[in-house]
Amino acid sequence: MTPRIRPDLDDLPVYVPGKTFPDAVKLASNEVTFGPLPSVMEAITAAASSVNRYPDNGMVELTTELAKNLDVSPEEIQVGCGSVILCQNLILTTCRPGDEVLFGWRSFETYPLATQLIGATAVRVPLTADDVHDLPAMARAITDRTRLIFVCNPNNPTGTVATAAELRAFLEQVPADVVVALDEAYFEYTRPDAEHAYDSLALHREFPNLVVLRTFSKAYGLAGLRVGYAVADPTVITALGKAHVPFSVNSVAQAAAIACLHAREELLARTDAVAAERDRVITRLRAAGYRVPDSQANFVWLDLGSRAMDFARAGVEAGVVVRPFDGDGVRVTVTEAAENDQFLTFAETWAQQA
Ligand code: PMP
Repeated sequence: MTPRIRPDLDDLPVYVPGKTFPDAVKLASNEVTFGPLPSVMEAITAAASSVNRYPDNGMVELTTELAKNLDVSPEEIQVGCGSVILCQNLILTTCRPGDEVLFGWRSFETYPLATQLIGATAVRVPLTADDVHDLPAMARAITDRTRLIFVCNPNNPTGTVATAAELRAFLEQVPADVVVALDEAYFEYTRPDAEHAYDSLALHREFPNLVVLRTFSKAYGLAGLRVGYAVADPTVITALGKAHVPFSVNSVAQAAAIACLHAREELLARTDAVAAERDRVITRLRAAGYRVPDSQANFVWLDLGSRAMDFARAGVEAGVVVRPFDGDGVRVTVTEAAENDQFLTFAETWAQQA
């Protein structure tokens, strides 16, 4: 006899992160290339000297600092071990088996995986032909079983964003008891024009069912330490607090995140270079014949369809690791000019040979 595991998990795939190859440029996981600032490193070292003690389970100092930064109250914030765990805990706290979690597709892979893990039902609404969330179609897909909706903005992996008007119209159509998680993992990289500009924290005041998810993994450069946070109505935050795995945000991570907030301006200033590089990369790729939607994140999407895996394999041979989605496309992180150039040289050569 083998140990009995829930049979509905038999076809649940394991999350496969971007691969690493020694000596290759890694453009598969939307990380930043730079290590911690000296002030952040100092905080990490100082916190490391007391890892014999459990961390602050309430994450009070970090929560207070975030509240100050975001101009919300600490009761509206829940910190988690990466925003991925907050996605999972939102599903856990809103859904029972059979309830529906709605999201655009393709989007962040955790949404369907975590939904299936708890026995809820994933409802995927295809993106538009321009790879943008089809919010009117998502509104039409809401049923009386819908308990949670993810809107990933900018969307991973396409980098596309919804317009402010579409987002507002959507929120107005969602029943007030259905939670909408606005996943803003790449928020710091957005440079929206007037049509796409919105203030998610102001929207959360207007729509108490709106949860804003952000992370220290991307622009703040702490992917390896796992810190994310949710801003939401205290009702949702209380529920997320119940799902919080005790001590899961470790003391080094908490100290580093606080130090990053103290160095916020310096860290956020670095996103300007990525935003500029993103436009340059997109222009070059389009000139080489690729179909690439506008991106507001630190990555771009190549709509390669059935050629996605071939492209990624050739990339590895050329020393560039990208993130393919079989039969769909390839996501490529935008980092600093030299790495981006290495990728562009490969992509331009591949386009000529293909
Ligand atoms: N949301 C989106 C859209 C993401 O792309 C990611 C990271 N890949 C996350 C959430 C999770 O980020 P983390 O757990 O590192 O905070």
